[in-house]
Amino acid sequence: MIEARGLTKRYGSKTAVDDLTITVQPGVVTGFLGPNGAGKSTTMRMAIGLDRPTKGTITVNGKAYRDFAAPLCEVGVLLEAKAVHTGRSAYKHLLAVAQTHGIPRRRVDEVLGLVGLTEVAGKRVGGFSLGMGQRLGIASAMLGDPGVLILDEPVNGLDPEGIRWIRTLLQALAAEGRTIFVSSHLMSEMALTATHLIVVGRGKLIANTTVEEFIRQASGDLVHVRSPQAARLNEALARDGVTVSATGLDTLDVNGLTAQQIGEAAFAAGVPVYELTPRQVSLEDAFMDITKDAVEYTHGTTPGQRVSAPTGANA
Ligand code: ADP
Repeated sequence: MIEARGLTKRYGSKTAVDDLTITVQPGVVTGFLGPNGAGKSTTMRMAIGLDRPTKGTITVNGKAYRDFAAPLCEVGVLLEAKAVHTGRSAYKHLLAVAQTHGIPRRRVDEVLGLVGLTEVAGKRVGGFSLGMGQRLGIASAMLGDPGVLILDEPVNGLDPEGIRWIRTLLQALAAEGRTIFVSSHLMSEMALTATHLIVVGRGKLIANTTVEEFIRQASGDLVHVRSPQAARLNEALARDGVTVSATGLDTLDVNGLTAQQIGEAAFAAGVPVYELTPRQVSLEDAFMDITKDAVEYTHGTTPGQRVSAPTGANA
């Protein structure tokens, strides 16, 4: 379990992490999401003592990282896959790390097998592709067979096969009861990998919920309706808190009522209904919507372009 309480980090006048209170539970993959510069890496660095909080605390299994006698056996970390000696082989790199903790050689072979690097174990790390580097980083994180894994953007630069591999691995590790805390700025990837989401923007907590609930909240009660008497139905649905927009000659998008309430209102008004479909926004749209005020760096816009994605209901 990872627990942050009032965690705050300032660099000069810049607040990178702002009063963050979160608990990352074991047994599920928790996605740590936010636009670039939201404070994800800083939070992860503080969890393992690479940065000192300005205020507040962050602990792993109830302890500060520096208080662990054998930290690799408590928490495995991948922050920067390129942080390896390029002249060493993958095997030697892992062996050197293992020897700091008295971890036996056979565990080095095991983790090389786990990440699929056995065949290239004797090759210099300097010649590794980005994907191979990420696999080596995960092998290092797994060396001490820790109950907690902290991975910063592990799918960056991976090909589709590599992305699927990491996804399956993280889910399997979570199912063993481990705590898996994985950051990404890619919502679509997290939608497939994570069960729980912690979303930050400009260092502040924006959402802490399940993927399912996150989408449900962002979708609201949006229902697509088709009726040959759309205008009459529109009138029949008019009430406080309900917005109805005509999307075609015989179609409406209704916000603020459930499909059941619309069906009942149509029945009461004697209006036939051909289609009644609750809609979900995509996780990507939900994420863009919820973080749009927290984006630190936006693309330059040309006239007519929008900075943030529209928050439409097109899943
Ligand atoms: P993320 O991982 O979500 O992209 P970071 O944690 O890397 O975000 O950065 C959060 C903010 O803190 C950014 O504005 C970044 O520029 C700033 N920051 C991060 N590390 C430092 C540092 N060592 N010195 C000054 N500013 C920093």
